[in-house]
Amino acid sequence: MKAEIITIGDELLIGQVVDTNSAWMAQRLNEQGIVLHQITSVHDDRQHILKALDEAFSRADIVLTTGGLGPTKDDITKHVMCEYFGTTLVEDPCVREHIHTLYKDRPDVLNRLTATQWLVPESATILPNRVGSAPIMVFEKEAKSERLEVKGEGQNSKFLIQNSKFLIALPGVPHEMKIAMTEQVLPYLRLKAKGERLEAKGEIIHRTLMVYGIPESKLAILIEEWEIALPNSMHLAYLPKDGIIRLRLSSYGEATIEEVNQQLDALRPLISDYLIATEDLPVEAILGNLLKQRGQTIATAESCTGGRLAAALNAQSGSSAYYMGSVVAYANEIKEQVLGVKHITLEKYGAVSEQTVREMADGVRRLMNTDYTVATSGVAGPTGGTADKPVGTVWIAWATPEGTEAECFHFGVAREREQITQRAVTVALVRLIQSLNSKH
Ligand code: ATP
Ligand code: MG
Repeated sequence: MKAEIITIGDELLIGQVVDTNSAWMAQRLNEQGIVLHQITSVHDDRQHILKALDEAFSRADIVLTTGGLGPTKDDITKHVMCEYFGTTLVEDPCVREHIHTLYKDRPDVLNRLTATQWLVPESATILPNRVGSAPIMVFEKEAKSERLEVKGEGQNSKFLIQNSKFLIALPGVPHEMKIAMTEQVLPYLRLKAKGERLEAKGEIIHRTLMVYGIPESKLAILIEEWEIALPNSMHLAYLPKDGIIRLRLSSYGEATIEEVNQQLDALRPLISDYLIATEDLPVEAILGNLLKQRGQTIATAESCTGGRLAAALNAQSGSSAYYMGSVVAYANEIKEQVLGVKHITLEKYGAVSEQTVREMADGVRRLMNTDYTVATSGVAGPTGGTADKPVGTVWIAWATPEGTEAECFHFGVAREREQITQRAVTVALVRLIQSLNSKH
């Protein structure tokens, strides 16, 4: 069962809004074993949408769209769908009632524009949108009678039913789209797969290993023989980001989980020096899970990362079990007064130095009494670089129950301030993960 996604909206094509809908939907479809063939973004433009629909249906069985279902003039998806599927708008009393309930405390929203939301395409099946006014619409591409005719011919029936194509139009608002997918569309697709034998050939499997501390090309050489020997049913992808490489091994219905795991078992010893995790999670989640398992705690002292470490740790639900707090000590006075960094240390070695970050890491441990702490101080740029401490120089110290370690990183002058601080956050968390991993 091949699917395509078309995201509709001018805002996506002028770069005002990033298309996060399709990425999220792609993950959910993959989990269901539905192969996604293409993702397309189009303007809120009749011709553009019609052409995209034609092209998508020439390749896929299911087309999912998001966006353009609002009541304002710029949202035209519903009208274009009517044109494409040769149907007209009719009033739907259920949708009307739902919208009245939805806005019962907001009479100002129940105006003549909102009233157009309960006009739905006559030939579409309407799935309820619990949290919004735009109904979710399902259109059949092939006429039912056509299918039934051939259904009588026994073995051909399967072939023809498998060719039955349909479109589901979802709202563009990400929160609404997610609820619609989870509560309506995915169950609907499961039902379809069962009732009409549209199931995928096999399971889609993605397994990810996370690797740190080796350049992509060197990694590729290191595992070259293993990669060449991979069966055709599996594909390896290298996904580098912020110094971490995600190695993703995928199979699209042609290998079993056991076969994929066997390959990973063979790969693991080859990369053991660099392996930081065996599942695809944000580094802060990997660290959080390790701390939670061990019942240990962490605090941070940040200069150049300006609270980003704190934000990353805090973003994990359940982090109160292990994350105690942070001191963002940007100014030297704060490093001294709050963290207890010695005046002489700052004077003699400067804020971006091994001595300073060590004292920051130890200082926040004294303050918060945690098992682990991490401290950062660096030159994030674009200004402030010197000959011996160029932009991108970051000192990181991490204090563990065994002692405090520090390391200097050079994240490079070519990177922007944001990239440098992001790298520092990632590396700081990775060093802690490695430290915890080494104490099995
Ligand atoms: P509404 O009924 O609220 O108008 P809609 O289905 O018409 O919903 P749009 O008006 O196209 O949806 O988009 C609503 C908002 O949802 C946009 O302002 C945008 O912020 C967000 N949005 C739309 N499409 C996407 C997308 N593909 N990815 C992320 N956000 C999106
Ligand atoms: Mg829109």
